[in-house]
Parts: sequence; C-alpha cells; structure tokens
Amino acid sequence: MKLLEGKTVLITGASRGIGRGLALRMAEHGAGVAYTYLSSVEKGLALEKELAASGVKAKGYRSDASVFKEAEDLVNAVVSDFGSIHVLVNNAGITKDGLLMRISEEQWDEVMRVNLKSVFNLTKAVQRPMLKQRMGSIINMGSVVGIKGNAGQSNYAASKAGIIGFSKSVALELGSRNIRCNVIAPGFIETEMTGALDPGMVQQWKESIPLKRGGTPGDVANLALFLASDLSSYITGQVINVCGGMLT
Ligand code: NAP
Repeated sequence: MKLLEGKTVLITGASRGIGRGLALRMAEHGAGVAYTYLSSVEKGLALEKELAASGVKAKGYRSDASVFKEAEDLVNAVVSDFGSIHVLVNNAGITKDGLLMRISEEQWDEVMRVNLKSVFNLTKAVQRPMLKQRMGSIINMGSVVGIKGNAGQSNYAASKAGIIGFSKSVALELGSRNIRCNVIAPGFIETEMTGALDPGMVQQWKESIPLKRGGTPGDVANLALFLASDLSSYITGQVINVCGGMLT
C-alpha cells in the first residue's frame, strides 16, 4: 500500500544522509518530492533521476534554508511547480562542535542559523499554502542531544532544543486548521555527519545503545513516512525518538 499518493513533500537538505533516505522512502510511497541541496551540487542533481525511477514527480532546488528570502522563494517555486505542499520536512542541519571554552561566536551563530532559523524560515513560508488547503504535516529534525544535552555540542543542543519549543508552539497555533507539527529526535545515525567523529568514541556509543547498533537513514525515514501520512492524523506537538533505546 502506498501511503503518500497524491501528496507533495518538501524536504530540506536531501543531497546526503537522512534527508536523502527520507526522499527515497517518500517517493517509494507515491509522493511528489521537492527537495533542496546547497553545497553537494552533483549529489543533489543526481537524486532527481533516482527519485523519478519510482514514477513520481521529483525536483531538486539549490537553496539555502537559513536565508529567509530564499526559503520564501523556494516555497513559491515548489507551489508553482507541484501545485501544493502537503508535507514539509525541515531536515537541513550542521554541527560545529567544541567545548564551550572553545566555541567561537561565529560557530554559535552559524549552527543557530542553519539548524534553528531555517526551521522558522520554511515553516513560516509553508504556512500560507497549508492554511489555504486546511491540511499539512510539518516534521522537524531534532536530536536526542536537544533533549539530554551533550558535552562539546552546546550550540547544536541549544538549536535542537529550540526546535522542540518552536514545534510545540506551531502545533498549538495551527492544530485547529488541521496542520500538524512534530519533531523526530534521532540518536546516533550513520551518515557523513557522524562519519566525522572519532571511531573509538563511535564504538563506545554503539556499545551503550540497547539495540547495539547505529541507526540508518532508513530507520528515520520510516518514522517520517508515518508522520507524513494520514496514519498519524491524530498526532501533533510530539517529540518521537529514533535512537535504538539510547533515551528511555
Ligand atoms: P549530513 O549527512 O551532514 O547531511 C546534511 C544535509 O543538510 C545535507 O544534505 C546538506 O546539503 C544539508 N544542508 C546543510 N546546510 C544547509 C543549508 N544551509 N541549506 C540547505 N541544506 C543544507 O547530516 P545528517 O546526518 O543526514 O543529518 C540530517 C539532520 O538530522 C540534521 O538536522 C541533523 O542535525 C539531524 N540529526 C542527525 C543525527 C545523526 O546521527 N546523523 C542525529 C540526530 C539528528 P549540502 O551537502 O548540499 O550542503
């Protein structure tokens, strides 16, 4: 059974990792997929063909989610190309790790801009088309780190905790218009983002995870698919962890 037939999904940051996994899973389930990339231009362009192999309409846009005007222009372009946006996934994110002692003002500002301001930019931009159609599902990519904190990631943790407060507020504001807003909080997912970490530390993390493995983009995509579909039509304002039991 295809869960997203007739729906259009917009995903930020789908050139790699989790976003790419989400785009592929949603296309398999019949959604038209609009997605963004920024610096990974080749990968971003190549994804269009892969998605189209599922028989759906797919289009990649080069767009910086952290820039307000670009987000507005992107949403207008997607509505004009696809006719509507039923699901927004705010997935784009970065890390600039360091102990508080060493984090610079630039590293703080950049993480907040890319991880948190982007969520405001895109959510605000999709509000109008979603209000008009009186339906929508907004899925924001948080992190378990935004719930429990992590030494060396105070900027990242603050941005992800901010996403939770923002999403709960949006769920309260827009629930009466049948627009839902939820947060996915992944634990340790094997992508380029986590590929940059020290292998010894990664091994230690994996051993401490009850399911004894890192997650895959597919593990996160399964929850995103559920939240995008009508199977979750009575779920809003929630934070759902995909973390192999790391947080209980
Ligand atoms: P990743 O492999 O580093 O991919 C990040 C994606 O975000 C890329 O497609 C990148 O596009 C895009 N991006 C970065 N800055 C952007 C911007 N300003 N505008 C538009 N796109 C931008 O990361 P990932 O592991 O897949 O993580 C995806 C999301 O899950 C992030 O929000 C991350 O914080 C969250 N998360 C990940 C983990 C994990 O363990 N991996 C755990 C918890 C939460 P380009 O390469 O084209 O620039």
